[in-house]
Amino acid sequence: MSCIDFEKFVTDIIDGYRCTARELESVAKLPLGQLVDGAHRVTQSCSSRTFNFCAIVNAKSGRCSENCRWCAQSSHYEGKCSVYPLLGKQAIIENALKAKASGCTRFSLVTSGRKLAAREVRECAEIVRALREVTSMEICISAGLLTKSEFELLHQAGVTRCHCNLETAPSFFSKVCDSHTIEDKIKSLKAACEAGLEICSGGIIGMGERLKERIELALTLRDLGVPSIPINVLEPIVGTPLGTQPYLSEDEIIRTIALFRFANPEAYLRFAGGRRRLSEQATRMALRAGINSAIAGDMLTTKGTGIDDDKRLVKAAGYRLENENSLDFDHEHLWHPYAATLSAPTVRKVIATEGTRITLDDGTQLIDGTSAWWCAAFGHRHPKLVDAIKRQLDTLPHVMFAGFTHDPAIELGRKLLKMVPAGLQKIFYADSGSVAVEAAMKMAIQYQCAVGQAQRTNFVTIKKGYHGDTWNAMSVCDPVAGMHSLFGSALTARYFIESPSCTFDGHFNEDDMKELQSLLQTHDDIAALILEPVFQGASAMRFYHPRFLKEAKTLCERHGVLFIADEIATGFGRTGKDFACQWANVTPDIMTLGKALTGGMMTLSCVLTTNKIADSISAAAPHAFMHGPTFMANPLACAAANAALQLYREHDWLGEAKRIEHGLKEGLFSLRAHPGIRDVRVLGAIGVVELDQPVESRWIQEKFIRQGVWVRPIGNLCYLMPPLVTTNQELKTLTMAVCRVLQKQIERQNSRQCNGND
Ligand code: PMP
Repeated sequence: MSCIDFEKFVTDIIDGYRCTARELESVAKLPLGQLVDGAHRVTQSCSSRTFNFCAIVNAKSGRCSENCRWCAQSSHYEGKCSVYPLLGKQAIIENALKAKASGCTRFSLVTSGRKLAAREVRECAEIVRALREVTSMEICISAGLLTKSEFELLHQAGVTRCHCNLETAPSFFSKVCDSHTIEDKIKSLKAACEAGLEICSGGIIGMGERLKERIELALTLRDLGVPSIPINVLEPIVGTPLGTQPYLSEDEIIRTIALFRFANPEAYLRFAGGRRRLSEQATRMALRAGINSAIAGDMLTTKGTGIDDDKRLVKAAGYRLENENSLDFDHEHLWHPYAATLSAPTVRKVIATEGTRITLDDGTQLIDGTSAWWCAAFGHRHPKLVDAIKRQLDTLPHVMFAGFTHDPAIELGRKLLKMVPAGLQKIFYADSGSVAVEAAMKMAIQYQCAVGQAQRTNFVTIKKGYHGDTWNAMSVCDPVAGMHSLFGSALTARYFIESPSCTFDGHFNEDDMKELQSLLQTHDDIAALILEPVFQGASAMRFYHPRFLKEAKTLCERHGVLFIADEIATGFGRTGKDFACQWANVTPDIMTLGKALTGGMMTLSCVLTTNKIADSISAAAPHAFMHGPTFMANPLACAAANAALQLYREHDWLGEAKRIEHGLKEGLFSLRAHPGIRDVRVLGAIGVVELDQPVESRWIQEKFIRQGVWVRPIGNLCYLMPPLVTTNQELKTLTMAVCRVLQKQIERQNSRQCNGND
């Protein structure tokens, strides 16, 4: 392979290409320096630059029934090793805490034998529970050929990863072990995946296998989708059949690591046993070639290296350490939105925001394609908003709103009333979108009670909706496809009608009204209809015909049902109107606002309603609206909102939304013809690409970051809702990144399906 070809090979791999065994055999002949440089570029572009240390404890040692020819623990040979049954909790906890103190973020319990007995699996689960009581380190298990139900038991106890090395190439395995097969191992790894565990699997090089077989191992691991690959170099142990095997040369070891990197661009390649024999110079090259994790300390039956030495070399190689920037604390203790704490998602540390940019702690700048969940509409940290909050802070950061009022609340109210549809006269401040939805629903019930319709205690909404995470808000989210389907029977059952079939600019279909019409005719227990006007956000990212709103409002009026418009996502220009209701010239009975209300600076929401509703509630017992959050009308938040609305008035934001709509159409519509893409739709400053399949969140997030953008798809929906200050050039970068990354995602999913690995 010529130099030029190698360049292309490396670039293709960075672009997601899955190389073949022949290509790897061919590049393996290149000069070592060139090979390592190529592998280094792949590591930098595709894999983690934060180095991860794990530690292992030999939790049960010796007397192994298996005949692995390298292993001192096999009872078939004379290799020397300690022999003891499963260690007690205390000993293991001590080991783990020591490892944690030295900077390890993972801890693995390794046991000898073909597999643990059922009793031992239960004991191990108990040990893991005890470990999780004192530490939040990630726990791995390496306990032989366990089954899915055994892995499930361990996963429930807190294990996040199963380790089981394939050891060597499938075609070579029987030469080094014949008491079990490599298929047994693969079966167990697949069982671990099915039980919800991550997998860690690698091998030992230098057992007499040829380069061809090392490549076969690397590609087998890739096809299994292994994210963490320990690479051991055989330490020949006296008394075992491989005890006299010559030690691999440094050149061969580094070359192998580079080939593993080409085969597994994204995986952690983990330095494991046998590396202590490498010279410092060779260790540096191995780190450059792609080692970005290590088992620290001693191995099971051989000596390891000191972690302090490791850390020095790792840092010199340009890696950051996982516990260096407190991400380990976040990983172990902070619960992120819609996230697990076992195998928690990767999060990045942000140190600053400005305008359209988010700055990470390594200096990376990302263009925000989400407006921080659609709230930083006028750009992050707008100086006028910062200034308003600072000024407010000096005089009145907070005071209760019961019995008191203050200028920021009054001024904000004045501004709001000038903007919202005429007829909305009363404003109730709340502290988040979900709480505004709760308050809006309570308002509807109290109104119905007040006007003698106490039986009207339920709500109707359209499917595919999203209204927040609190109890009543959840009850009106889509009950099947939504994020809260799990809570199903715990929530009050609401009436769900089909979401309008007619698209925003399609032909309006009268039939879309039939279900609501007949429901309202036949049911007298409905207090209100709640809707996201025109744009259904977090559950569906779809736009529907404004006429539906108009007709729905008329039907509601006819039947004494209130109409609640949840404008938390759509308010303040996002869809190209100040409020999405205005697409239909509809004044809702109750309207909720949030998100962009403070320009994304503070948490604040509000519920607006008519005098008729407010008066009715007030005239009836208990002569009060029964809601009052501690932080309602927080002056700092109101000051931010005042400045945000001032900004909103001073600039043509609807013009900006139009401009962004144009840019989104221009940048995203080309995807429409692409296989794997179901739909591309744009309205105002919202662009949505719907895929046939859900995306792989971790993978795609990393890819977007490498393109310099912040985009967070939900399931099979990839959306852009950039700040309205996003320039045309930035918009281009965003849409190009979306096109590029989604195409790669689809190719990747297709190639996995071809390999039968989905
Ligand atoms: N309603 C709608 C339409 C929303 O989009 C959201 C948030 N995505 C909420 C309510 C809930 O708002 P919050 O997350 O501030 O509670």
